Amino acid sequence: MLYSTFVGKDIDRIVARIGELRNQIEYHDYRYYVQDDPAISDAEYDRLFRELVELERENPELSSPDSPTRRVGGGLQEKFGKVQHHAPMLSLANAFDEDELRAFHKRISNLLLTTDIDFVTELKIDGLAVALTYENGVLKRGATRGNGLIGEDVTPNLRTIRTIPLKLRADSDVPEVVEVRGEVFLPVSAFQKMNDERTQAGETVFANPRNAAAGTLRQLDSSITASRPLAFFAYAIGYVEDIEFRTQDEVLNQVKSWGFATNPHYCHHDTLETVVKYCREWEGKRDSLDYQIDGVVVKVNRLDYQRKLGVVSRDPRWAVAYKFPSDVAITRLVKIGINVGRTGSLNPFAILEPVQVGGVTIRLATLHNADDIRRKDIREGDMVVVKRAGEVIPQVVGPVREKRTGEEREFEWPPECPSCGAPVSREEGAAMAYCINRVCPSQRFESLNHFVSQGAMDIRGLGAQTISKLLELHLIEDAADIYSLSDEDIARLPGFKEKSIENLMTSIKESKARPLPRVLFALGIRHVGERVAGLLAEHFRDVERLMAASQEEISAVPGIGPEIAGSIYSFFQDETNRELVRRLGEAGLQLRQKGTAVVEGPLSGKTFVITGTLPSLSRTEATALIESAGGKVTSSVSARTDFLLLGESPGSKLKKAEELGVRPISEAEFRRMIEPNVPRAQAEDTTTR
Ligand code: NAD
Repeated sequence: MLYSTFVGKDIDRIVARIGELRNQIEYHDYRYYVQDDPAISDAEYDRLFRELVELERENPELSSPDSPTRRVGGGLQEKFGKVQHHAPMLSLANAFDEDELRAFHKRISNLLLTTDIDFVTELKIDGLAVALTYENGVLKRGATRGNGLIGEDVTPNLRTIRTIPLKLRADSDVPEVVEVRGEVFLPVSAFQKMNDERTQAGETVFANPRNAAAGTLRQLDSSITASRPLAFFAYAIGYVEDIEFRTQDEVLNQVKSWGFATNPHYCHHDTLETVVKYCREWEGKRDSLDYQIDGVVVKVNRLDYQRKLGVVSRDPRWAVAYKFPSDVAITRLVKIGINVGRTGSLNPFAILEPVQVGGVTIRLATLHNADDIRRKDIREGDMVVVKRAGEVIPQVVGPVREKRTGEEREFEWPPECPSCGAPVSREEGAAMAYCINRVCPSQRFESLNHFVSQGAMDIRGLGAQTISKLLELHLIEDAADIYSLSDEDIARLPGFKEKSIENLMTSIKESKARPLPRVLFALGIRHVGERVAGLLAEHFRDVERLMAASQEEISAVPGIGPEIAGSIYSFFQDETNRELVRRLGEAGLQLRQKGTAVVEGPLSGKTFVITGTLPSLSRTEATALIESAGGKVTSSVSARTDFLLLGESPGSKLKKAEELGVRPISEAEFRRMIEPNVPRAQAEDTTTR
């Protein structure tokens, strides 16, 4: 009695769960296949599907012919004509790890009574399968997989895809009828561009390239399809008259010679071991391609073996899809945190309920900026899709709107810097907000971290924790202070002993040899990355000259636009920054570009300062002339200055020069110094006082 009650309850629970899973999967199939707008990640879908398959396997009496586990696809859109496939277009059974691949091998070996089986592996392109029927070599019809038996007629749209031949290339006779199958997909770069454009137009974005490809192919207006660069790889022949193929290898070669694109990475294997290796390798390389792949399709090569193995339910028994661990997951975005960057930028990031993505637990993800948050409509409390690709920081792809409860909160910029409480500045329409406090502790910490980082001064042994401690003990305030640290100072830091003190002091000393581009990059000027730093160093060759340059002169450097030039210019207008550069120079850092030839000329040994607007020369041109004549240009007047090259509307430098008795000269006088033969009248101008 007790036993049967227990069993009864258990069965009730299983029946209820199976019903629940079938409903959920049907709903998600509809969203995915009919609407091209999935509400959950593929990994989550695969989990639900797997649970249902297992429950049905353990309880065969509960299986049903209309279970989603017996069906391919999820329905057809009414708007298209229907096409009956020559032979069913199937799905694929999955293998989620190497053990499951080996289990597949064992299964087929048992059925074929041999282990001597060769395979073909193909990348599993994440697009949608189509069948193309050619009659006497001419494309007649193209259809989606649909429900496997009947597909949607999308012929006009398929005709717009350049990699689908409208006519088969053939040296010999083409078969009267042939149905070629393959995958239509959208390259990742095109997908990103398309989503950017949709965002700008205020339209909803596609969740992934697969859905974008499906949405693009299933358009009533084929000019829309034609405007997006869909592509196609052929991988099978669904039906053919008059030709006998022996292997999948032969099939791929034949479709290739008919003019189809086949994926170049397919591979033949004599053993399962190299199949396993191929799967493992591509798992690591999946992000190197401009199309998304979600796994590897492993196919038995011999077609007579394929026929022998046949089909179970909706999957061929002769193939398996080795699925890569998902790089996306869904979790709750608990809160939007703000981190203050080295340039004072406020960078929002997502604090997540911990979730596993591709074998790694993720707690934080980037959100880029407020525009991105608004554009994607991400709110605190949302369930969000997070994506992790390769080694890059995980990103929040977008919210799952269906899961909203109404409790979610829209993001607002804080009025004050979360680190120091100073006011936040944000220009109307700008994507970023900035903390205006230049001594903000977060900015200071981040800029020091940047200064010592690998691409910058590369001071090994000076990590974030050490910097934090140095700041806390007031041993440093800025980057130049690093160079006056003593052994005794470092000995005050926890964990530093004789050897580690010596190592750190050596690293600091060695960093003084880093060339000018690295120093410019290390300064952490907004918009100055390694490339721009290199351009600046190459052009100006000396920090002094760069500091003296006008915004126009900086933006005249090829590759540097007005926004970057503005940022560099204002950085050097700031007295604190100039002072920092001066102290770095005193510490022995390289403020001149190496390899500058020492020029001997009429101005050898003479030091110039330029002020005001010259009649015909820009400051950069004047500087170049002075240097090519062997002279030197500095930014401020001192007792060592020989001449003040004076233009119209001079600044305070003139007064300083007068005080120090430095001689002012006009552009004309200057020209006579470098080109002594220029006649007086021709070179005269009005700026000499
Ligand atoms: P599948 O995608 O696992 O495998 C079959 C498909 O693989 C074929 O139809 C073909 O389109 C594709 N394919 C790519 N390259 C191939 C190659 N070289 N040879 C043969 N086929 C190749 O199976 P499915 O039935 O199309 O879709 C099921 C999968 O779709 C699920 O596992 C899930 O990932 C996803 N899905 C997601 C949702 C969701 O809501 N997120 C809903 C439904 C389905």
